[in-house]
This record gives sequence, structure tokens and C-alpha cells, in this order.
Amino acid sequence: MSRFLNERFLNLEAYVPGEQPQDKKYIKLNTNEMPYPPSSGVVNAVSQTADTLNLYPDPTGKALKEKLAETYGVSPENVFLSNGSDEILSFAFMSFFDKGVAFADITYGFYKVYAELYGVNAEIIPLKEDFSIDPAEYENARGGVVIANPNAPTGRVLSAESIERIVKSAGGIVIIDEAYADFGDVSCVKLTEKYDNLIIVRTYSKSRAMAGARLGFAIANKQVIDDLEKIKFSTNPYNINRLTLRAGVAALEDEEYYKACISKIRDTREYVSDELKKLGFDVQPSQANFIFAKSAQMSGEMLYSKLKNAGILVRHFTGERIKEYIRITIGTREQMEALISEVKRIREA
Ligand code: PMP
Repeated sequence: MSRFLNERFLNLEAYVPGEQPQDKKYIKLNTNEMPYPPSSGVVNAVSQTADTLNLYPDPTGKALKEKLAETYGVSPENVFLSNGSDEILSFAFMSFFDKGVAFADITYGFYKVYAELYGVNAEIIPLKEDFSIDPAEYENARGGVVIANPNAPTGRVLSAESIERIVKSAGGIVIIDEAYADFGDVSCVKLTEKYDNLIIVRTYSKSRAMAGARLGFAIANKQVIDDLEKIKFSTNPYNINRLTLRAGVAALEDEEYYKACISKIRDTREYVSDELKKLGFDVQPSQANFIFAKSAQMSGEMLYSKLKNAGILVRHFTGERIKEYIRITIGTREQMEALISEVKRIREA
């Protein structure tokens, strides 16, 4: 059969999202979704918007930008909206990294894919033995830098002071991907007032329980936001649909509900970490809504497949340094109790 794909994409290895099997109902702990539903305000906003779907959405996202600006203490001109935070990353890799970009060997897998897709030279910097980042290795980066903070899939966080040192010394754009920051204690949003080369990337997919709505946003200085807007208006001006724009505002009006969900996730994270440690697991310290853990007795591959057979989905990566680990999303307390008893059963068998 003929192949028409442009030659430069023939060897591109696409990102592989966590599986979403439809064959039966699983306890789904593999894609870092929130186990709780969106707030009632979000559900109402979506149903009240449905009858205007004949109209295009506002391509400037004015109402949502204003609400986000108010929430994060910035101006609307410092906010960029996107169809999931992956889209911001895509636009940023397309726009800012002519001089290359540095990122960790173990981090969010999409960075490598975007680098390949857009022909960006990637400098891969290995994490230290304990999976922490050595900030000194990023200081004076010639091109750009991308750091997930907390990192995925480890859950480890780098301090705001270390991030600031990197941003200060970098020659190009530094993206701090804060997809999971609401589950921890570190955010660098405030630093965007001080540094022109910093982009904070955020998502509604995790802490705001809206993975299915596809909404992300970036906070940065006006010039960077204008540049991202230029790319967006040159690709897909209506990148966010009407339902999602309204839901995005409604979620910010229900902050108390989301704070309570986050607090439950943090408590449950401590519970699961302790239980796994009691079972002899090495558990990475996590500030995210997942934990990264390795058993002394069972391989990552085996745990993943036995748990899947038992109806519990976790994520397993095949990279050499991390193949003995599994990444477990923090679900409800009941889901995690089910996980722990299944792990005990597998261990005894
Ligand atoms: N950044 C990180 C570190 C992630 O783990 C994810 C989720 N896969 C994303 C960005 C993208 O999330 P979304 O496109 O749903 O906002």
C-alpha cells in the first residue's frame, strides 16, 4: 500500500497514553484522573450551555481568562488557554526551542515526542540515582528547559528556590509543568511576575476533575502569551469548546469542593504509601496524586499484569531505570483498600 506520510515523520514514535480498556469495569488507577466527579456547579454549567452548541465558542476565552487571572493573582493578558495542557506543550515546543531544550531522562513522555515532532534538539539530563533532579545541571542551559514539578512518574518535587535559580540562569524559555502541583506544596506561579522566560503550565485534568473536558492553561508574561496566541490562531482558534469554557469558570467558583477532594487525595496518598512500605515496597516521596513504587519481591511487569487480571489498572513503564516500578494513581480510600488487599493476595500466592 502507498504511504503518503511526510518523510520526516516516518520514524516518529507517537506518545502512548495510558490504556482506557472498555472490556469491563476496572478500578482505574493508571492515568492520574481524580476519582471524584466535577462539582455540581460544573455539571450545571455544562447542561445550561448545551442548547447554545449551534454557536462557536469565544476564541479569546475572555470570561475564563478573567476568572483564572483573579484566582491566580495575575492579569488576563498573562493567561493562555488550551485544549488540555498537552496542547500548550505542543505550541511551546513549536514556538520557542530553536536552540534546543533540556529535560530529564525520566519525566513526562510527551516532551520527547514533541521534540521529535518539531525537530527540536533535546538534551536529556539523567535524574540522580534517587530520581531527584540536580538543579545545577540545568543552570546556564543554552536553550530552553522543561521540568514537570512535581515530576511524573516519580511524584518528586523540586523547591521553588531551585526552580528560580534555573529560570534566572537559563538562556531561553523555562517551562514548569505544574500538572500535579495542587496536590503538593510548591508552585512557581508567582515567579512569572519576575521572569520573562518562565511559563507555568497547568491543567484541569487532575485536581479539578475535568480530564474529559480537555482544559489547560499557562501563566507567563504578556509577550510569551501573545506569541502562544499567535500560534493558536494559526492552528485552531476555537481550540476550547463552549461546554469546557463554561465548566472552567464554574470550577473556579467551587474552589471549596476541589480543596476537599485534594485533601482526601493527600490523606489517601499517605495511607497507601504507608501500607505499601509495610509490604516491603520502596515508595518515592510524592507530592502528586499518584505514587511510584517498587516491590522487593515482585517485578513491575508482574504486578501490573496480576493487578490488571484482578480488575485494577495501574501504569507500568518499560524504561530501563524504571521498569521495576508501577505508578499508582490515588483513588478513593475504598479503591486503595481494594488495591492493598490485592497486592497482599498476589504477594502471598
Ligand atoms: N503534564 C504532565 C506531567 C502530565 O502527566 C499530563 C497528563 N498526562 C499532562 C501534562 C497533560 O495533561 P492534559 O493534557 O490532560 O492537561
